[in-house]
Amino acid sequence: MQKKNQLLFFLQKKRGHERIRTAVKGFADLCLATRPRDLLFKVVQRYNNIFYQTSMQDTFKHIGLRMALVEQLRKKGISDERVLAAVSAVPRHFFLDSAFAEHAYQDKAFAIGEGQTISQPYTVAFQTQLLQIQPGEKVLEIGTGSGYQAAILCHLGAKVFSIECKRKLFLQSKKVLSHLRMKLTILFGDGSVGLPSQAPFQAILVTAAAPAVPQALIDQLDEGGRLVIPVGNLEQQQMLRITKKNGQPVTETFDIFAFVPLTGKFGWNSTK
Ligand code: SAM
Repeated sequence: MQKKNQLLFFLQKKRGHERIRTAVKGFADLCLATRPRDLLFKVVQRYNNIFYQTSMQDTFKHIGLRMALVEQLRKKGISDERVLAAVSAVPRHFFLDSAFAEHAYQDKAFAIGEGQTISQPYTVAFQTQLLQIQPGEKVLEIGTGSGYQAAILCHLGAKVFSIECKRKLFLQSKKVLSHLRMKLTILFGDGSVGLPSQAPFQAILVTAAAPAVPQALIDQLDEGGRLVIPVGNLEQQQMLRITKKNGQPVTETFDIFAFVPLTGKFGWNSTK
């Protein structure tokens, strides 16, 4: 019992992951030898919680790295100051596995599991800039992934709905966004059909490669609403912005990007 108290005290002090890990391992061995396994389970659960909390810290180093990233984005042509302010405010390293935190502020996409990626910061900034979001607007994101893009949209003051089709990513992004106290709705399901129950939207963002523009998404746009969507083949896609003007879709074309595929009814697995 004394050993258990020592360990819990140690965990509460959060004295560095390595030392916590060593202490937990030592105690785990002891538990397996002498104590009931449910006690071991509780200690490991407590360790996991503390490890999660300590890995979710935003330091001056992270803030500095974000400022440098913002300058890179500016040089690459992102000019919307509100978008740049959002990038400088949202801790992107929270959305990657803590083992890869040092990659968070490089301008590149990164694997987040389930064969998916957190989009490159430039891509996030580019799509967000095209959306021209005003505070209070209702925005639908299709492809929550890590949740980073959703956090940027929230930071712009949008009322965000975001849909993810991979359960593991849905659960993980929900956890991170709630830790950041972001107020938004994250849903699990096929976003290629949109979210008719919440339509119309002032903006819809698709963060996966679509074979064509789903009519269902145009139908769910409000008058004056913008749909930003990468459309093409599985290798590369052209970024489109479709604006509903007098009830009709008006399409503008932008640069070429490479996204992971949109799946679902109006995606690449389509049987329609
Ligand atoms: N916006 C994400 C972020 O900030 O991390 C990056 C998105 S990742 C490039 C594309 C995501 O779209 C993947 O997580 C994938 O599972 C999801 N996706 C693909 N097809 C989907 C569909 N039909 N409905 C919902 N999510 C979908």
